[in-house]
Amino acid sequence: MSENLEIALFPCLSDNYGLLIHDRESGETAAIDTPEVSKIEAACAERGWTLTQIWNTHHHPDHTGGNLMLKEKHGLTITGPDQIQGRIPGLDKGVSGGDVFKFGKHEVQVIFTPGHTVDHIIYYVPDAKAAFVGDTIFVLGCGRLFEGSPEDMFGSMAAIAGLPDDTKLYCAHEYTLSNAKFAVTVEPDNQALLDYIETAKTLRDQGIPTVPTTVAMEKATNPFMRAETAARLGNIRAAKDSF
Ligand code: ZN
Ligand code: FE
Repeated sequence: MSENLEIALFPCLSDNYGLLIHDRESGETAAIDTPEVSKIEAACAERGWTLTQIWNTHHHPDHTGGNLMLKEKHGLTITGPDQIQGRIPGLDKGVSGGDVFKFGKHEVQVIFTPGHTVDHIIYYVPDAKAAFVGDTIFVLGCGRLFEGSPEDMFGSMAAIAGLPDDTKLYCAHEYTLSNAKFAVTVEPDNQALLDYIETAKTLRDQGIPTVPTTVAMEKATNPFMRAETAARLGNIRAAKDSF
């Protein structure tokens, strides 16, 4: 990671993660989604960071619920998907896949990852070797297909798999142990998966987040990322929905 970029992760609501990225040089701090205003403000205050931006991944209330209150109190700039008008409260700057913007001197790449919603985007910060993936991919899982198709999610998994192996993936929920129970039914003989589950259990026993994961880890263990075809992904997703 660039020595100027710092990332903070902290639990919000029942199983969300709040996320902040801070650039020491410019003083900018962005909240990735806004699950819980008080937790986001406390995380900034603890570190002496001033919140200047929000980057939304998609419109669901556990991701945008704090937008308006934070904007009113801190006068910040909200960036998010604008493919469907009016979905992101307080949106200032609409972006879509392929867009690039600057965070201090650092590049942020917007990647289109439909599936969970039709307009879901993720934010990749190469200098931090980090991607903020919202509800597209979880440790050992993927987002529910509320709006998109298996084809959409298959393409989104491929886009994430195409990032460098050591990219840290900051997922928006701690779903790992419940995802693990399902993942072993898909690949009972995947030793990397079995080994990782032991690690995850140890972490969760100590109350430690399993997020971030990495691209390499998900390629080795995540049944949705490992699905060979969109149809296969669709079948696995349907099985998970009724698991
Ligand atoms: Zn969601
Ligand atoms: Fe969510």
